[in-house]
Amino acid sequence: MAQIIDGKAVAAELRGRIGKAVAELKSAHGVTPGLAVVLVGEDPASAVYVRNKGKQTAEAGMLSLEHKLPALTPEAELLALVGRLNADPKVHGILVQLPLPKHIDSQKVLTAIDPAKDVDGFHPINAGRLATGEPALVPCTPLGCVILAKSVKPDLSGLEAVVVGRSNIVGKPVAQLLLAENCTVTIAHSRSRDLPAICRRADLLVAAVGRPEMVKGDWVKPGAIVIDVGINRVGQGDTAKLVGDVDYAGASLVAGAITPVPGGVGPMTIACLLRNTVQAACAIRGISMPAM
Ligand code: NDP
Repeated sequence: MAQIIDGKAVAAELRGRIGKAVAELKSAHGVTPGLAVVLVGEDPASAVYVRNKGKQTAEAGMLSLEHKLPALTPEAELLALVGRLNADPKVHGILVQLPLPKHIDSQKVLTAIDPAKDVDGFHPINAGRLATGEPALVPCTPLGCVILAKSVKPDLSGLEAVVVGRSNIVGKPVAQLLLAENCTVTIAHSRSRDLPAICRRADLLVAAVGRPEMVKGDWVKPGAIVIDVGINRVGQGDTAKLVGDVDYAGASLVAGAITPVPGGVGPMTIACLLRNTVQAACAIRGISMPAM
């Protein structure tokens, strides 16, 4: 039976280290890292994320600023807010919660964020820096995946890694980060031929597909580390539950270690967002980043 990688516990430890780093930044440099989160509209899931982000930011001793705008806010007004946050010295990280209402061009808004404050790591400048191996703010969920894999195997060097999914927010950055860890990386997607055979090669398998329990137990190499990014709501009413992109029951009989859903990758995302905000504050103020 696979070891369960407890994302809640790893995230709590990371938040503890972030809290200490924040206290050190305050006492040694008089800097309080500040995170501004912008929510446009009433999407209930987004509202929950934003509330949790605000709560955990404040708990880490950081400044949390929330901007809630009505769903009909014109794009120009949102861009003007981003401009003000870019210029605000109290703000070191800016996160615009996605999805945005349809009348707003998300890419335009994300590229309007100062790359130095882009704690989601979605700005093309940060994506380019990650791709070229320069210091960057890297996307939070992918960073969480790598931290979880390293929690069971600190040195990933030389591993055969397969990432299923090539989105800009998960698949591609996970693959870049694993390449930087010296894995041999394959990126699979909807046009890949014989996906089960590709997955079976993986010492480290990351599933970021958005299809409930698609990766079966017999796609997993015995002893592999399996990181399941998927969050899929299945069933209705009393039978509704969250499942990942991996068939957990089948895969956990074969894998060496596996993340559950919920309680695996999910809790890491906000912890990595806080980490990125500390990183951004240090870079903006020219301070070397405390150990985290
Ligand atoms: P996208 O829909 O943007 O990308 C899905 C990727 O999976 C695409 O590259 C697609 O290929 C590939 N894909 C789809 N179907 C298949 C298939 N049958 N075989 C092989 N590949 C396939 O999703 P995201 O990357 O945004 O998210 C992936 C999952 O991760 C979702 O469940 C999402 O909810 C979850 N997620 C969780 C987060 C968290 O834990 N905090 C954060 C972000 C996402 P192609 O490019 O060819 O279409």
